[in-house]
This record gives sequence, C-alpha cells and structure tokens, in this order.
Amino acid sequence: MLFPDHTRYTLVIVCPKACEFWVLQKRYSEFLALHQALRRYSRGTLKTLVRPVLDLAFPQRHFRADDAVIRHERRRMFSDFVEQVVALLCRCTALTTAPAADLAAIIQGFLNASAGDHATGLPNASAAGCCKSSERCAICLDGLEASADPALPWHLQLPQRVLLLVCGHAFHEGCVVPWLGRNTTCPLCRRMSCRGLVQ
Ligand SMILES: [Zn+2]
Ligand SMILES: [Zn+2]
Repeated sequence: MLFPDHTRYTLVIVCPKACEFWVLQKRYSEFLALHQALRRYSRGTLKTLVRPVLDLAFPQRHFRADDAVIRHERRRMFSDFVEQVVALLCRCTALTTAPAADLAAIIQGFLNASAGDHATGLPNASAAGCCKSSERCAICLDGLEASADPALPWHLQLPQRVLLLVCGHAFHEGCVVPWLGRNTTCPLCRRMSCRGLVQ
C-alpha cells in the first residue's frame, strides 16, 4: 500500500538570469511527475541537455509514512534537482527548436504553478530604495553589503546573496530561506512574500 504524500516541500528558487527568487511548494508526487516528463527527453535531440538532471539521484518512493529522515533526504535531493531544472530551463530557452520550447513550457509550468502571490508583483524601485536604508539583515543583524565574489559561479554565491522581498525588506539568503521554508510571509512585517528580487 502506498501512503498519500501529504508533505509539501518548500524550496526557494533563484533565477540567476532575471535576478528573481520565488518560493516553490510541491509534493513528492509533483517532483516525480516532472522527473518522469524529463525522462521522456532522454533519447531525443535534447538528451545532452536533460542528462545533468537525470544523472542526479532522485528520491525513492517509500512504502511507509514520511518521517524526518525521509523528509530531510528528499529536501536535499529536491534542492539539487530544482537547481539543475532551472539551469535546464535557461539552456532550453536559449534554443529555438520546438522540442526545446515544449520542454521549457513543462518546466515553467512546474516552477510557476504554485509560486503564490503573483498578484503582489515584484518589489518596485521605491521599495528597493527603502530597504537599502535599513542596511542590516533583521535576522542576524549583520550588514547587507554585498560580499559575494563575482568570480564565483552563481550557485556558489548562495550564502552571501541578499533577497529583497515584495514588501521591501531585505535579508541574507542564508538567513531568510529557512524561514521561508516554513512561512510565506516576511519575518519582519508579516506581509505575504512568496517572491522578490536577488540583489
Ligand atoms: Zn542575515
Ligand atoms: Zn517585510
């Protein structure tokens, strides 16, 4: 007997091209459906593109209820999986072939379907200006000045990046992501904040 997968996994997706981030909440079955969709491209013209995603270990289905060990392992694997899926989307959108457009649409459907407060939009220029005046991350109280090394690839800059939420409050990525994994609100003003800009 299969247990229904009640656990929703929350990941923060960062698009390095658009400098945006959003919160993604999905169940195991939804990750599995995307993985199976990607496997259908493993023998076609896009096989070299999808290979980095399919080469990753994908969590097994369990025949018992989710426990903390299963959830921890899945969260780690889904995080690597989604990072590769975002990179795959960037490669697909750079191509103009029909299969690449189809694959890009599948990935976009997965990444955007539960992005949350689309209507809230992204922080505007005035909000960005007001957050700069605070200069400190309200979680760790350290300064928000950019310390990322631009020579590093974007995914290695993760701990130093600053995320600007839709409300205009900014935090270190490493500080606010654990919070956004449990809440969809800003930790300071409690406004809905499922997306924002990466600074
Ligand atoms: Zn911080
Ligand atoms: Zn706020």
